Amino acid sequence: MLGGGQLGRMFCTAAQSLGYRVCVLDPGADSPAGSVADRHLLADYLDEAALAELASLCRAVTTEFENVPSRALEFLAGRCIVSPAARSVGIAQDRIAEKAFIRDRGEATAPYSPVLRVEDLGEVAPQLLPGILKVARLGYDGKGQAQVTTPEEARAAFERFGRVPCVLEKRLELEREVSVILARGFDGDCISWPVAENVHVAGILSTSTAPARITAALSGRAEAAGRRIAQALDYVGVLCVEFFVTTDGSLLVNEMAPRPHNSGHYSIDACVTSQFEQQVRVLAGLPLGATHQHSQAVMLNLLGDCWHTPGGEPPWAEILAHPQTKLHLYGKSEPRPGRKMGHITVLADSPAQATKVAAQIAQTLRIV
Ligand code: ADP
Ligand code: MG
Repeated sequence: MLGGGQLGRMFCTAAQSLGYRVCVLDPGADSPAGSVADRHLLADYLDEAALAELASLCRAVTTEFENVPSRALEFLAGRCIVSPAARSVGIAQDRIAEKAFIRDRGEATAPYSPVLRVEDLGEVAPQLLPGILKVARLGYDGKGQAQVTTPEEARAAFERFGRVPCVLEKRLELEREVSVILARGFDGDCISWPVAENVHVAGILSTSTAPARITAALSGRAEAAGRRIAQALDYVGVLCVEFFVTTDGSLLVNEMAPRPHNSGHYSIDACVTSQFEQQVRVLAGLPLGATHQHSQAVMLNLLGDCWHTPGGEPPWAEILAHPQTKLHLYGKSEPRPGRKMGHITVLADSPAQATKVAAQIAQTLRIV
């Protein structure tokens, strides 16, 4: 596993449940995945000696960190099984390449334009305003984004980001956001999970409700678009495609993540096969597991903001007194605001019950 975050940690435990041993390569000493892995190579992603050691220890390598340099994946690809491929990860890492790829395949996106030089803003700004200027690379959880309403604000934001390549995207009236997570094997076999409905607060995922409260026709369209994108990428592994549903009813692709995704965490407790077990199955060349949901689910992200008393913990016993509530903590010691510390999945027999219990827990934790 390249990357030591919580996604890597959940992959490790899924792999270990299937009897595998996992080696994590990550530059952080105290990483969520490194602390549960069988081996932790404490090294930079481009450290060739460490990558060579990883390849010699492992039959197959994957990533949990979408900003892993694609050169690292290329280096490994000559030595062991690697999924996803460097090309897929390279496209998903760059909003300009990603949006162009999606559009060229005939999928709808929000109106946008690449911004490579400040002059690019002059030509395109009016019809894309009010908009969001987003850095093309290394942005996540709403970081590297600026809301802009005038060309001057767009230029100021571009300067503030250090004139790095960006996209200017029209700000849309969203009815909701949904995501499709799917897995595609080396043999091209492809399976998706029920569509999740996601609420972001300040650019960070706050809750996912699954299945999404949308028509079967709309979820069918989202799943079909996700599959078309996976196929066009010749993608192997677990892929997330995020969508906007606008108030005028359009379904637009927002972005993709070449890995398991925060909005698929509900699959651990609510589905026959989790997104992490599926990533293991793909890497190991095993058949894909069934993805259907056996319980309604609402997932709440636990950000550091939920730790209200310094040095103390949230009232876990009170939360777990709801008997169908599953708590996942990622082993991070410092609960900083905006930091993903864990998540809770509320299971229920009906959507109304899942929503009700999730609202009670959100209130206990003072989640907005
Ligand atoms: P990140 O890589 O940080 O997840 P996104 O492009 O997905 O970046 O933006 C984060 C969130 O900001 C989205 O999930 C959505 O809530 C909001 N957002 C992004 N782009 C738009 C847009 N064009 N119109 C309205 N809301 C947007
Ligand atoms: Mg996003």
